[in-house]
Amino acid sequence: MDCIFCQIVAGAVPSKKAYEDEQIYAFADIDPRAPVHLLLVPKKHIPSLAQTTEADASLLGHLQATAARLAQEHGLDKGYRTVMNTGPEGGQTVSHLHLHLLGGRQMHWPPG
Ligand code: AMP
Ligand code: ZN
Repeated sequence: MDCIFCQIVAGAVPSKKAYEDEQIYAFADIDPRAPVHLLLVPKKHIPSLAQTTEADASLLGHLQATAARLAQEHGLDKGYRTVMNTGPEGGQTVSHLHLHLLGGRQMHWPPG
């Protein structure tokens, strides 16, 4: 298994866990770009959003809904950003689908 996020889900690589259920695992980003920066990943390996289909709709919705709940738990009452980078031009560097939850500072638009 050479996927770093699969290794994190398996507990083979340490992480700072924020949430876990049957479908997803959430943990602190190792290089935080905001005071709160969590990553939410499906436990099953999906390379990116580009490989998903309608069959993954509930999993994708569950990732977003969980991000909303974690944002609330982390006190991000003034707002936050969820981001899913897809592919090289999308800025994706780890090929295991993940949703970023960023908050605790003013976000800007458009992102770089
Ligand atoms: P992306 O660039 O959208 O693919 O995001 C990958 C994210 O994974 C980056 O924000 C990295 O800082 C983060 N990351 C990479 N390795 C680890 C790790 N071992 N533990 C936690 N976060 C990681
Ligand atoms: Zn993986």
